[in-house]
Amino acid sequence: MRDGGSEGGGEGEGRSESREPGPVPAAAQFAQYAASVGPPPPMSVDDQIRALQKPLAPYYDLHSEHDTTLVFESRMESGNLRRAIQVYPHEYDLILRPDINTRGHTQWFYFTVSNTRRNIPYKFNVINLVKGDSLYLDGMQPVVFSDKESAACGRGWMRSGESICYYQNNIKRRNGQYYYTATFTLRFEHNHDTAHVAYCYPYTYTDLQRYLKVLEDDPQRRQRFRRRQLCQTLAGNSCDLLTITSFNSDPEALRGRRGVVLSSRVHPGESNSSWMMKGAIDFLTGNSLDAKILRDNFVFKVVPMLNPDGVVNGNYRCSLAGVDLNRVWNDPNKKIHPTIFHTKQMIRRLMVRNGTGPGGAQDPSGTSCRKESSRTTRPL
Ligand SMILES: [Zn+2]
Repeated sequence: MRDGGSEGGGEGEGRSESREPGPVPAAAQFAQYAASVGPPPPMSVDDQIRALQKPLAPYYDLHSEHDTTLVFESRMESGNLRRAIQVYPHEYDLILRPDINTRGHTQWFYFTVSNTRRNIPYKFNVINLVKGDSLYLDGMQPVVFSDKESAACGRGWMRSGESICYYQNNIKRRNGQYYYTATFTLRFEHNHDTAHVAYCYPYTYTDLQRYLKVLEDDPQRRQRFRRRQLCQTLAGNSCDLLTITSFNSDPEALRGRRGVVLSSRVHPGESNSSWMMKGAIDFLTGNSLDAKILRDNFVFKVVPMLNPDGVVNGNYRCSLAGVDLNRVWNDPNKKIHPTIFHTKQMIRRLMVRNGTGPGGAQDPSGTSCRKESSRTTRPL
């Protein structure tokens, strides 16, 4: 290249090749380096999105096409697998990440496996669970979503798994008790498929945002509700508040309407409560006469996801502050528990406005075992 002279100018020519490099003080090295790189060019939004969409390097590189090791991934919304250990050719011990800023609360799980082989029994043992009982002992199965089946015929999540068991193992916890193992065996239908595996049907924060957008785009339903931001979470996510009622009413009648407050997903691992909430919102904003009568007589205040940060991060029970938000209703802190604080404010405003108090407050709560109550009515 040097002979060609096509690079033009002589400024840098020959500079690096012949000179003996002498010692350069660290500060000067840094100054040189800083001068050579300059500030990073501003990234366009499109570039930022492209960078985020770049596939992540896998944690495990396959040695050859005959390597049948499953490749695990959970760096996705609501994912929470911390480690997968291959204990036999087709058996894996799985360790879940505890709720952020806590040392426990592991029960929800959500991860992806790729490099599957058809009709082989793969055994998975989730070994650091904390609850003493589980619906897996009462016939519940994990849920699985196959990319290939979805592409071929639009199939979604399916209950799947055989030889399911839940039992206390011999790994000691810090508190002197022992962890529990959920074990199940999955057979995949395709070679080289990617399958998503979860404790229960996932419902992510993104799912909720998409759903609310569909409602807002529906010419009929959007007349029946209003959406606003209740507050921001610790991570800066928006916590949505919906108001559902008949808005085209006499203002006096509107003011006198009793309030009904619905909230869900204070516990992020209880994704089933989001599906219940979706059903409730579908119904309340729908065309039925029953829904119209309800809208004519009540103002529904709905907080569909009280703990968006926990959902995004794949927590089971807590918020980013490492707190079970269902335990702070008596004295929520505006900065540390913003969604609870602002929900309580909203309920108070509702009570003051019509002078009657709310007709009821419900938080459908998922359960992981039979004995728990399936919903709570909060003290206001
Ligand atoms: Zn709950």
